[in-house]
Amino acid sequence: HRPTSEMQALDAAHHMHPFTDGDALNAKGARIITSAKGVFVTDSEGEQILDGMAGLWCVNIGYGREEIAEAAARQIRQLSYYNTFFQTSHPPALELAAKLAELAPGDLNHVFFNGSGSDSNDTNMRMARHYWQLKGKPEKQIILSRWNAYHGSTMGSGSLSGMKAMHKQGGLPIPGIDWINQPDWWSEGGEMSPEEFGLARARELEAKILDLGEDKVAAFIAEPIQGAGGVIVPPETYWPEIQRIVDKYGILLIADEVICGFGRTGNWFGTQTFGLRPDIMTIAKGLSSGYVPIGGSLVSDKVAKVINAGGEFAHGYTYSAHPVAAAIALENLRIMQDEKIVEKMAADTAPYLKTKWEALTAHPMVGEAKIVGMMASIALTPDKAARAKFASKEGTVGLICRERCFANNLVMRHVGDRMVIAPPLVISRAEIDMLIERAIRSLDEGMEIAKA
Ligand code: PLP
Repeated sequence: HRPTSEMQALDAAHHMHPFTDGDALNAKGARIITSAKGVFVTDSEGEQILDGMAGLWCVNIGYGREEIAEAAARQIRQLSYYNTFFQTSHPPALELAAKLAELAPGDLNHVFFNGSGSDSNDTNMRMARHYWQLKGKPEKQIILSRWNAYHGSTMGSGSLSGMKAMHKQGGLPIPGIDWINQPDWWSEGGEMSPEEFGLARARELEAKILDLGEDKVAAFIAEPIQGAGGVIVPPETYWPEIQRIVDKYGILLIADEVICGFGRTGNWFGTQTFGLRPDIMTIAKGLSSGYVPIGGSLVSDKVAKVINAGGEFAHGYTYSAHPVAAAIALENLRIMQDEKIVEKMAADTAPYLKTKWEALTAHPMVGEAKIVGMMASIALTPDKAARAKFASKEGTVGLICRERCFANNLVMRHVGDRMVIAPPLVISRAEIDMLIERAIRSLDEGMEIAKA
């Protein structure tokens, strides 16, 4: 490849980055990633970076598996593209749909394929509303979501996302969506116990439904564990109460498993970890371990029966069930099953990481440490007992620590003043040791900079 400075100049001149302050990045130049293997990515200067985020929470089986490359090449030679509109199907689409029905919990036996998590949530929003129209309840159209959630960036999924910074830009949110608060006990729990707080936050859903009218609400969408919102692990009381409420009022439950799905929480799906019974489930990311874009909506018997009997559902994407993407997803799932990646992680490396992660609370700046499976967060604070916020603008210390991590060749993300990780599920014990060592070093350095 070209010299780093030349690539940075080209990037600055022509490439607009997602979720990035363009001028700020262009002034310093992007770090150019040129290859990856296992849990490490390598930059154009040859530095090996431990990817504590599995890309964007997606490279569950790790980078650079030969079998995936082979599966892609085979499929491209066999059938590089065909669609599944109108009256056709193809082997990778139907095999993947059947495999997903086998893996998914409950009666989620049907799949509508999409290109990503964002457009999957658009599909879900339309499908939920269409379902109630077909059921003769066309008034039930409002979709409820949660503040601070991230469900994607399209007009629909970006509106479901409860991120206030997104809502300020470009015409979001579209009408017909409303939000309740997230169950973030550390930041918002006040004097309540986590259990009381979990119940209180869940009951906001009931209050919202009663306020809007139960005949107006189509569905509630949420991640089992809010990921991009800061790996907010809900108190134990939260999900059972939510399930009770959606059942009581006949509201469809849409579980966004884009991050939690495919092993991240220690089970195949996050809904299994929390005992939920979703009507629709959003999947993407780990479905292909990020090797190519693909997303899906897993749909229950109850919903699919109505949609299938309702005539043409006028919705779909050119790349719905793209055969190469589907073949890669199938190979990814084969690897996960044959190598027992989820089971091994849940039995060995996840508990190993948990012990080390929770010990981070010994650090002077770390308040709570939360971890489920291979997704984890720490809250940074100047005063643990008071669960206090820093005097500086929210996120300043988090950003400093993230940048120290990156300088120390560890990818860790910050969400405000929380730090999060979601490494590939195949991370080894030795690599976990390295991750923790680099994290502590970066926190120490970050604390010094923040003090100055
Ligand atoms: N839903 C959740 C929970 C996500 O974390 C994301 C992406 O981070 C999305 C949806 C959107 O997925 P995509 O970026 O593939 O459109």
